[in-house]
Amino acid sequence: MAEKTNVQTGTKQKKRSLQHDLHALWRAVKLTQKLEPKMLPLLACSALCEAANPFVGLYFSARIVDGLLSGAAAETIVPLILWTLGLTLFFHLLGKGLSRAREVVEERLYSRELHLVDAVFLKTDYENLENPRIQNLARDYREGVNMRGANLAYALGDDSLRPLLQGAFTIVFAAVFALPLFFAGGDAAAHPFLAGPGPAILMALAILCSVFLSLFISRRGMQKSWALARGMLRVNRNFQYVVGRLITQYQSGKELRLYREQGLFGRFISRALNTCTDLLKKETGCEARYEGLAAGISALLSGLSYLFVALKALTGAFGAGMVIQYAGAITRFTTGLTDFAGAFSNALEQVPYLEDLYAILDLKPVLYSGTLPVEKRDDNDYVIEFHHVSFRYPGASEWALRDLSMQLKVGKHLAVVGRNGSGKTTFIKLLCRLYDPTEGEITLNGIDIRKYRYEEYLAIFSVVFQDFALFSFPLGQNVAASTAVDEPRAKKCLDEAGFSDRLRTLPRGLATPLYKNFDPDGVEVSGGEAQKIAIARALYKDAPFVVLDEPTAALDPLSEAEIYERFGEMVGDRTAVYISHRLSSCRFCDDIAVFDRGQIVQRGSHETLLSQKGSLYEKLWNAQAQYYATHSKEDEIYLQ
Ligand code: ADP
Repeated sequence: MAEKTNVQTGTKQKKRSLQHDLHALWRAVKLTQKLEPKMLPLLACSALCEAANPFVGLYFSARIVDGLLSGAAAETIVPLILWTLGLTLFFHLLGKGLSRAREVVEERLYSRELHLVDAVFLKTDYENLENPRIQNLARDYREGVNMRGANLAYALGDDSLRPLLQGAFTIVFAAVFALPLFFAGGDAAAHPFLAGPGPAILMALAILCSVFLSLFISRRGMQKSWALARGMLRVNRNFQYVVGRLITQYQSGKELRLYREQGLFGRFISRALNTCTDLLKKETGCEARYEGLAAGISALLSGLSYLFVALKALTGAFGAGMVIQYAGAITRFTTGLTDFAGAFSNALEQVPYLEDLYAILDLKPVLYSGTLPVEKRDDNDYVIEFHHVSFRYPGASEWALRDLSMQLKVGKHLAVVGRNGSGKTTFIKLLCRLYDPTEGEITLNGIDIRKYRYEEYLAIFSVVFQDFALFSFPLGQNVAASTAVDEPRAKKCLDEAGFSDRLRTLPRGLATPLYKNFDPDGVEVSGGEAQKIAIARALYKDAPFVVLDEPTAALDPLSEAEIYERFGEMVGDRTAVYISHRLSSCRFCDDIAVFDRGQIVQRGSHETLLSQKGSLYEKLWNAQAQYYATHSKEDEIYLQ
């Protein structure tokens, strides 16, 4: 598939083959059938019903006119009229009922599709979530759904598959109704050419040409309008980011005012709005051009058809009633054709959105998941060891970790220190199997961690990440990470994490929702309070390994000192890994590993490392000690 970049929107557009598009639509049909089996039969019945209705009128009016012209009795005409009314009403009511039923089924299909997509993102490997290409894919899909109403039900719904089927049924019915016209003879002696096969052949050729032209035009129109629509989504994304998130949310309001960034934002908004208006103008102009062309072809074909019917009637091939039937059938044929081409183009227009959906559903797991169970041990005797581990982030050229070998000693507290970017967080990500090593292996009790069942391996870690996340659910559910909350245990953990005073002020205790996203009575917790809740969540999980990545960065010195004092008690005999920029906190650990450029350059107790003159640890320590001596009388010292 060839790609070209749209200069205005910066998006890559793929030139897709018709076969590829049809394949994508076929997959949508199969997926729909799997998710909501009633959808396709309902669509087909609905289309059949709508297509059949006009032909009832056509068939009976031809018979009624013939009857009237031949002076038939009222007993013959009246039943025909009653049949016309009855059948028209029947198809009309059936159509209405089917479309009501379809609405319900479409709604169900829509929610099943979203559920399917959500399940993929909930379960996919973390590495996929951090991948910018997949982030972009997720945004493209959501924007397609939210802003263009694109989804499976729509892709196969009222604008595409249903009118496509209706158009196809109409064409078939019209062909059946009009077929005798092509073989009608007439007075060959008086009109040798008109009564012969020539006009029928010419008419059939005209119909064939118009079929191909209509399909070609609608496909071209679709490709152009899709490119413009896609471009609009990108512009809209930036616009939503600025208007929906930056301007209206208080978190960004301080900087915006203090740095007087109103002008910057204002210019950005008007640029985005102008681009949107330009693209919209082009999209509607493009649609109007292609629709106009399609309507022109349809009108030309109608004119030719009437001429053909009239000329055949002139040769005396059929009477007035059949003129009505043939003219009506040919008119229906051209409208069926226009509907079919339009619906075909609309269906193809859905392909890019469907492809986003398929790309999400086809996301492959990155990590191999083994089958070995992780042994449950009351003595927490789990030994984790890194063996010559090197790691490079996907797409990165630099190593984040290089030839790292170390053992986590059971029940010991290891502090990990080092400059920014030295690989500390990456070490934790590998330890918790959010990524697998690029080289080397990590073992748990002597067995490669990849061989264990993934979920069971994750279960042995309680982690507080530097950029931890809390959710807008009740406090208790945040701590328990579940809807089932063991309240005494949650309170005990919150107490150990230093949150008990604040808990007493919360009107609904553990049931108090965090933040106000779902509930206006939710509480806004400060950064430090949030960190305490995150620590409580780690304690509640009660896993044999505790990993704390900068766990007290947002805490005030008193709360921090309190946490450190109780650190040993909180962690107990579990193995703990603890990342901190505050070297004074390392004194609480038995063992310290100093990271530099992805490697461990020193390891030992605080005293041992400090006694190594000229070492990185000594430099880091002195840098803080100097800061402490010149800037503050407080106990705590901070490394910048
Ligand atoms: P630390 O925790 O010591 O500050 P990190 O482990 O976060 O360091 O980072 C180590 C190196 O890996 C840095 O050079 C950083 O830029 C790089 N890095 C971290 N996260 C990613 C990522 N998601 N993609 C690519 N590179 C990353």
